[in-house]
Amino acid sequence: MEKLELKNVYKHYVQGTVEAVKDLSLSLKSGELLAILGPSGCGKSSTLRMIAGIEDITKGEIYLDGEIINWLSAKERNIALAFETYALYPHLSLFENIAFPLRIRGRKDQEVRKEVKKIADMLEITNVLSKLPSEVSGGHQQRTSLARALIRPASLYLLDEPLSHLDTQQRTEFRVQIKRIQKTQNLTMLFVTHDQLEALALADRIAVLNLGVLQQIGTPEEIYEYPENLFVADFVGEPPMNFIKATLVREKNDYMAKLYNQKLKIPENYKDAIERFYKGDVIEIMLGIRPIYIYISEPVEGQTVSGEVYVFEDIGESGILTVQIGDALIRVELSPGYSFKLGERVNITFDLEKILIFNPTTGERIKANDSKTAK
Ligand code: ADP
Ligand code: MG
Repeated sequence: MEKLELKNVYKHYVQGTVEAVKDLSLSLKSGELLAILGPSGCGKSSTLRMIAGIEDITKGEIYLDGEIINWLSAKERNIALAFETYALYPHLSLFENIAFPLRIRGRKDQEVRKEVKKIADMLEITNVLSKLPSEVSGGHQQRTSLARALIRPASLYLLDEPLSHLDTQQRTEFRVQIKRIQKTQNLTMLFVTHDQLEALALADRIAVLNLGVLQQIGTPEEIYEYPENLFVADFVGEPPMNFIKATLVREKNDYMAKLYNQKLKIPENYKDAIERFYKGDVIEIMLGIRPIYIYISEPVEGQTVSGEVYVFEDIGESGILTVQIGDALIRVELSPGYSFKLGERVNITFDLEKILIFNPTTGERIKANDSKTAK
């Protein structure tokens, strides 16, 4: 049975003006960590607030453990929350803030101490537990809010950007702790973030939202390797995917992508999909390829294009080479040890297996025959 299920959920803030969430359907299995990923304002918090019961659902249904919860108050839903704004009790110490959910459930003092210590150790706030929220940093307050959410058993855990007030190193560190707690205790968790790397690292599955609309839901690998459209392809991955406009041409039995008189061979498994729309006229396509799937090599027929070095950034563990071909700038991620002169001619070779093709008008990905997410 699904733990949580959203069916065609909408959120309008002012009737007809702000449509924050549009026709959202998704479900979550018990013990799963689903990340909701998208840019600021795409409806992530609105979605979480509707599930938590602190915001009305304009239309649609939400089920928790098979029961519709639309009309239950926040208190009646067995859901633990940690939001970006910490909402700590200002007059209680951090210790008592974390202990609160256990105290109101009448747990013994000795047990409470043990549980608070355990979670505080994991989130590295043990030495500030006696302080008031106003006496500690935003990062400490945020970890306290997270500890308070994770300390009690709940049917579902909702975390809204729970690491946003921490620095990069701490985010990486506590991301690991959250994943460990979630996996060892088999918690069902919805984790909201605008940080694609955080989503890729943490989640069992990721739901990508844009402008209130679900773009794709899938495993991190599906989202990274087989983005359904240009939005997902562009939003996920760093450095970002290259998008290269090309024209589709047929040569004997092969289809080629032509860019400035250079040609890349389109893999065989795209043939069926291409023949569904290609009628022999000049047609534009958008190639998508990640910088890690392009190499420097001797020219290989149908796989290599040449251009000029636009810029080279040596960032220690890798080098990012930007190559100019006509108006196109193509990023290549290289292993250390390369150096280039500006304007130097280079051959870059594409891993054709990794090439994606998008319809430049609709933004949809054209699916090859063996594409794992082909429906
Ligand atoms: P996210 O969490 O992804 O940044 P939100 O769910 O907070 O996005 O917001 C989605 C949209 O709804 C935005 O356009 C935002 O301005 C709007 N919005 C959020 N909360 C309210 C509110 N209480 N009243 C009116 N509009 C709101
Ligand atoms: Mg938000």
